[in-house]
Amino acid sequence: MTSISESYELIKSRIRTAEEKSGRAAGSVELIAVSKTWPAQVVSELVECGHRDFGENRVQELELKHPDLPSSLRWHFIGHLQKNKVRKVLPFTEKIHSVDSLDIAKRINSIAHELGLFPKIYIQVNHAKESTKFGFSAEELSRSFDSLMRLDRIEIEGLMVIPPFDSDPENVRPEFAALRKLRDELEQKHDIKLPGLSMGMSNDFHVAIEEGSTSVRIGSSIFGKRKVIKPNQNE
Ligand SMILES: *Cc1c(COP(=O)(O)O)cnc(C)c1O
Repeated sequence: MTSISESYELIKSRIRTAEEKSGRAAGSVELIAVSKTWPAQVVSELVECGHRDFGENRVQELELKHPDLPSSLRWHFIGHLQKNKVRKVLPFTEKIHSVDSLDIAKRINSIAHELGLFPKIYIQVNHAKESTKFGFSAEELSRSFDSLMRLDRIEIEGLMVIPPFDSDPENVRPEFAALRKLRDELEQKHDIKLPGLSMGMSNDFHVAIEEGSTSVRIGSSIFGKRKVIKPNQNE
């Protein structure tokens, strides 16, 4: 079995290769190690390799895990966030990648006000608008964007997408390209900068980088295959 440190080095070199192949600067793509379902001891192995950025998709799990790990880690929240969990998660997250409605954005904004924070966020886009998944359709986003921009405590870093799983990453390429195009259009229309594109997972990150990803979220290719968790816990 490959160790976590070996997998980590391999992933970093594959990220470098994809950066080079697409003419991107070395180090321009951020790696978020998705540690969901893995206990703190396992996460520690990657911390010992010098890694600092970790992704979690459940508030409860993050709450339990982060006190057992160094306070220098940067936690990225990547799952559907419920309104009543915002206050818990905000003080110790670096960025929220999964702002999937105007309501939750407003909630984050008002809690950030109370707590004196200026969180960085990504807006989650869901092109396919599958009923099981969260996020703005392109149309909803263009309708809501002015309201999102008026929220003065949140800094919109860019857009995020979770495409439907496909074993052939080439089939996912159009989703990534569409997210970049949507980002470019919003930048033009609203005269703002949206530098971040949070896209690409274990199976397709090289394609995402070729299409402009600035932040890849990789779990199983580093930590190994996760045990299946019940869908209703996936919050
Ligand atoms: C689990 C998860 C990932 C990582 O998936 P892998 O296929 O294990 O790399 C990335 N992004 C989100 C939002 C996830 O929930």
